[in-house]
Amino acid sequence: MKKRIALVDDDPSVLELHKVIFEIEGHEVTGYSSSSAALEGVTRDPPDCLLTDIMMPEMDGTELTRRLRQNPALANLCIVVVSSKVYAADRKRALDAGANGFIPKSRSNPQAMVGEVMALITETISLGFWGTRGTMPMSGPQTLRYGGNTACISLTFPDGHVFVFDAGTGIYPLAGQLMGQGKKLNGTVLLSHPHWDHINFLPFFTPLFVPGNQFEIVGADQDGLSLEQLVANQMDGVHFPITPSEWGARVGYRSLGEGCYDIGPAKVSTMLLCHPGNCLGYRVDFGGLKIAYVTDNELYPEDSDMFSPVYLQRLTEFVSHCDLLITDTSYTDEEYPKRINWGHSALSRVVNLARQAQVKELYLFHHVPEHTDDDIDKMLQQAAALCAGSSTVCKAAQALETVRLNAV
Ligand SMILES: [Zn+2]
Ligand SMILES: [Zn+2]
Repeated sequence: MKKRIALVDDDPSVLELHKVIFEIEGHEVTGYSSSSAALEGVTRDPPDCLLTDIMMPEMDGTELTRRLRQNPALANLCIVVVSSKVYAADRKRALDAGANGFIPKSRSNPQAMVGEVMALITETISLGFWGTRGTMPMSGPQTLRYGGNTACISLTFPDGHVFVFDAGTGIYPLAGQLMGQGKKLNGTVLLSHPHWDHINFLPFFTPLFVPGNQFEIVGADQDGLSLEQLVANQMDGVHFPITPSEWGARVGYRSLGEGCYDIGPAKVSTMLLCHPGNCLGYRVDFGGLKIAYVTDNELYPEDSDMFSPVYLQRLTEFVSHCDLLITDTSYTDEEYPKRINWGHSALSRVVNLARQAQVKELYLFHHVPEHTDDDIDKMLQQAAALCAGSSTVCKAAQALETVRLNAV
């Protein structure tokens, strides 16, 4: 498939050589002879991929990468650092700065470089954390790092299809990022359940109002209410002045139960979670990657009358060997006894689940409003201590953080 490639190299002969080999393969190429020109040009008119030399005067390729990554509108840009230096330290610096790949500059076999770049472009998916808070949004200096917006996560696939998990207030900054791309959008909104912190900002998702965009909204029906009614009821002209009939995009609905579905370019599996009403957990399988979004969910302690070994076993299998598990860690173990049957989990129970399931990365999620950034730091430390000796790494999503995942 034809791609738009931007190249930056201060050596005119290398720039010309690379331009020719990408053009021979049918790609559209823009060349920049300096990093400052590339920064300006790529920001104004983003390509699919930027290949940057590492050693350049004024601003090296790593610094250029870092600066481009500070711009949320370029979250999906594939950046590849091409270097005649192949030291591990340089590779690490480039990848830490946000590059998708670091490949050696080869004059003898430049076609191999094209292949490596294409593999990176076509196999990278990016995950964006737009809202990580549960229950209600919380603004103020105490929530700046982990964020105060309610649940919303995006997953963008190589073909541009975007998954939007839940429509809390975090969907508003995501809308800004998607609209900033200035192109037609094709996506799926995957709702876990219709509690306010998961659906009430769907009316502010501006891509739904743009003709030419195409979205499917998927999720579970509730007693007597279809998924479409659940969405429409909060946009009935009384609770919100604009109704779904005013959406300009083509919007369809699909009611899901437990099962396995083809959605966009991925396989999506669902499981009903332990939470009031019908609440779906999702697992996405794509290109050998497994990503699970499991919220809201209560894991009862084993000494509780409500504990179900069958449920725990099913959930463990559902998230087994996931690359990422983003899940409800609302409470500390000390807080949980005062919140039993509220539908949310305590930290150690979740860590046990992740360890048992051999999850690679556990993301603490659905932070309760009263937890400050410092409180979440402490929970992360506790989770890391509980994970010691296992292969599971614990993280907590930072507001507006993007994670790039290479298909295996
Ligand atoms: Zn919630
Ligand atoms: Zn809920």
